[in-house]
Amino acid sequence: MKFQDKVVLVTGGGSGIGRAVAQGFARRGAQVVVAARGQEALDQTVKLIEAEGGRAAALTVDVSDSASVAGLVGRIVERYGRLDIAINNAGVLAMGQVADQPEDDFAQVIDINLNGIFLSMKHQIPAMLAAGGGVIVNFSSQIGTHKRIPGFGAYAASKAGVTALTRTAALEYIGRGIRINAISPGPHDTSMSMRPGETEADRAARVKGQLPIGRVGSLDEITGTVLWLASEDAGFVVGSDIVVDGGSTA
Ligand code: NAD
Repeated sequence: MKFQDKVVLVTGGGSGIGRAVAQGFARRGAQVVVAARGQEALDQTVKLIEAEGGRAAALTVDVSDSASVAGLVGRIVERYGRLDIAINNAGVLAMGQVADQPEDDFAQVIDINLNGIFLSMKHQIPAMLAAGGGVIVNFSSQIGTHKRIPGFGAYAASKAGVTALTRTAALEYIGRGIRINAISPGPHDTSMSMRPGETEADRAARVKGQLPIGRVGSLDEITGTVLWLASEDAGFVVGSDIVVDGGSTA
């Protein structure tokens, strides 16, 4: 029970990778808080965790809204006394080539994926400093940090920003006990890795030809990397961007 009684926040914890990561922490003894915009999906995550005997709570947040994020962190500290680990996983994808992409779509991707990570860290760090330290894992992507794909400009720009911001914040706070890293997944088994109109079989065929490993990553595999990165086993890993992509960028 590596995370026994640790207070762990997972943003975007109502679906996909965030839900799996929340379950992973709960199975190892953590008090988990899942946060996203939709209450119903969050409640479902809490139900799944409680069915296994774990501890979780659902709180709504819009990570692109400073007051909302401040309120979330405030409620966690009020309820549990501190915030030990933050997994900043919430994110969105909007595809479109540069000249065709609506300005609002571009702005929204930057607002949620990049400003959302800035606002999350901005409000999490003071709470962690007050408690003597903490760990932050920010979700970047191999698209943006290591690889470019036509139609993914907004997403790539936002995620490249996440990695740069993560590395900078890591330098700023490691001396005060907060260890900050990013993770850059390749395609994993969630709706985000499906192209419009694609079935799971279509995705499997596409990925088979694209990725050296020949398949998408499983939710257990990405969860394992996040848990390791958040644990003391990764205590010397600071300001890194851990690529989890089946060999795609190798
Ligand atoms: P997902 O769509 O299942 O999860 C994203 C979550 O973010 C959802 O729960 C959603 O409600 C939440 N969210 C979106 N906007 C929000 C906002 N403004 N405030 C709060 N919550 C918000 O997708 P996923 O595949 O689980 O993605 C999780 C993370 O992993 C994302 O940051 C994504 O960019 C990254 N990622 C995913 C893949 C992949 O193949 N699935 C690859 C690389 C990176």
